[in-house]
Amino acid sequence: MVKVRSAKRKLYDLQELAHYGLFPLRYRLELLHPEARMYRSEWQLEIYAQGVWINHIYGLLSESDEITSKKDSSTFYSQLLRFLESSRVTMRNIVPAFSPVTWHAIEIQVKSKLKNFSDERYRYFLKIVQGNKESFRVMVDGSFEEQTIKINIDVPYMAKTTGFDAAILSDIQTVEWLLPGESENKKNGREAIEQEIEMDGVRLFPTQYQAVTWWRNTINAYFVVEKKQKVTDNPYTRMLEEHYIRMPDKIAHWVQSIEQNKFPKHAGEHCTSCPVRLECLGIAGEEGEVTA
Ligand code: SF4
Repeated sequence: MVKVRSAKRKLYDLQELAHYGLFPLRYRLELLHPEARMYRSEWQLEIYAQGVWINHIYGLLSESDEITSKKDSSTFYSQLLRFLESSRVTMRNIVPAFSPVTWHAIEIQVKSKLKNFSDERYRYFLKIVQGNKESFRVMVDGSFEEQTIKINIDVPYMAKTTGFDAAILSDIQTVEWLLPGESENKKNGREAIEQEIEMDGVRLFPTQYQAVTWWRNTINAYFVVEKKQKVTDNPYTRMLEEHYIRMPDKIAHWVQSIEQNKFPKHAGEHCTSCPVRLECLGIAGEEGEVTA
């Protein structure tokens, strides 16, 4: 039997709140019907498989001392590619139904994520280690008293560098369907990311890009502020510190809105990659089959 969690909760995962801040109805549908999180179509499984593969590669890296040279990003990238190659057969056996063409497309995406990782991290990289379950607390005004809500951040892997430990988020993005989205105005400053629209009294992100950037910034700000990992004072770390100061107000507002049963249907560009769109349109049957 499926257990439905109470609307009043003392614990949330950060990614659930990021889902709520963009797609409140998705949050509601996934809560009531966990099967809505079952990715069924080929395009969904393709994206999901990218996350599983990249996560598998980080797991192999965390157990290996093979990465020796980080003198330039292309040497680092070719070392990372060896882990992709050694895991190719395992991955194909996990999802044997994909065609060779689909596997090729998945591999291109995984390579691109490894390339981004090597470009960003090669200079100060030491190793990859398992992450921890982290959490912070936010005070929320309830009907009768203030309550403390615990927010979980579950980061599977961290990149240890000579200066600080960086959370690796790309695999959670695909598994949690927090795909980066496109910046509309090419600005990624604080003002662009913090823009809001209001629906049914709920303050929401206008776009997927803003929601996902807020989610990433919250995790990075947690490590900079709570875990005291700030090694330099620069515009980015100052932006994260400001983000961390403002973030509890937004979370408290969403928790109150959830408790007040507010789940507006926020349609937009993001509907095209929303995992529950069949349920949202009312065309998924009990077994998750399309019935009309
Ligand atoms: S399909 Fe669109 S409107 Fe429906 S839950 Fe997803 S994002 Fe919201």
